[in-house]
Amino acid sequence: MEFQTRIAVARKIIEDFPREICCKDPFRVLIGTVLSQRAKDEQTELAEKLLFERYSTPQALAQARESQIYPLIKNSGMYRQKAKRIIEIAQILMNDYQGIVPSHLDRLLCLPGVGRKTANIVLYVCFGIPALAVDTHVHRIANRLGWLQTKTPEQTEMRLKPLVPETLWGPLNGSMVNFGKAVCKPIKPLCQICAFSDPCPSSILQKKRP
Ligand code: SF4
Repeated sequence: MEFQTRIAVARKIIEDFPREICCKDPFRVLIGTVLSQRAKDEQTELAEKLLFERYSTPQALAQARESQIYPLIKNSGMYRQKAKRIIEIAQILMNDYQGIVPSHLDRLLCLPGVGRKTANIVLYVCFGIPALAVDTHVHRIANRLGWLQTKTPEQTEMRLKPLVPETLWGPLNGSMVNFGKAVCKPIKPLCQICAFSDPCPSSILQKKRP
């Protein structure tokens, strides 16, 4: 796909599938993103709500016991592992960062359970730093659109960054997630209603053409 077409497609995905950012509090976004791992949006929202009603600050969460957290986040899945991780994160923030979430990628990556996707979301959403968070949706769609050929989200992040302007990195994540849920689904993408079926090399409509 040519450069201009690629940028036009990226802009349209951002325009047509906006992802609202409701909260920019770094601690809440960080913990919420850890809770969201392998969970559906509704599950994450409920777990986050129940957790932050009781433990809204790093100070409070750092002093909690894992068993106290279990019932609050149970519906987000892997709750034992997540409880351990988020308490450890709160303790590290208190011990090493005066209770403040760091705004550096390397420091975020040192926190338990925080991978590149989570760290990049925090950097963009909370600090406005250009950062490209790549999850399964971004990875799948970028490959289907023929922008790159990669095997892992990490590879996609590195290859995709030079392909789209820095200003689009942040919004592209949330919008591609929405686009991936609504149209370019993991199984049976809805190419018939997709605005990009013409330039997209993976479109089932393209494959049917002579
Ligand atoms: S044409 Fe199909 S495969 Fe390509 S981006 Fe659209 S939904 Fe995804």
